[in-house]
Amino acid sequence: MKYTCPNCKKPLANRARPKCLYCDKPVPAELLFSPIERRTREQKLSQERQQYELHDRQISQLKETTAKRWWQFWRS
Ligand SMILES: [Zn+2]
Repeated sequence: MKYTCPNCKKPLANRARPKCLYCDKPVPAELLFSPIERRTREQKLSQERQQYELHDRQISQLKETTAKRWWQFWRS
């Protein structure tokens, strides 16, 4: 199934948006995300965000460790 605007026939860039990005006409509810799809999508997004934050924390921990090692090396 293709999700296109019934008014201007452009593809729906964001199905979470109740209005068409191009012609600003309301998009029929059946073309938008269903509540289940929306929830699945939100869960996926928050999972990705958590992974990203974890990765970010690991990087900063690594930087801290490296900095400490350099400090110790310089002191001895
Ligand atoms: Zn449109």
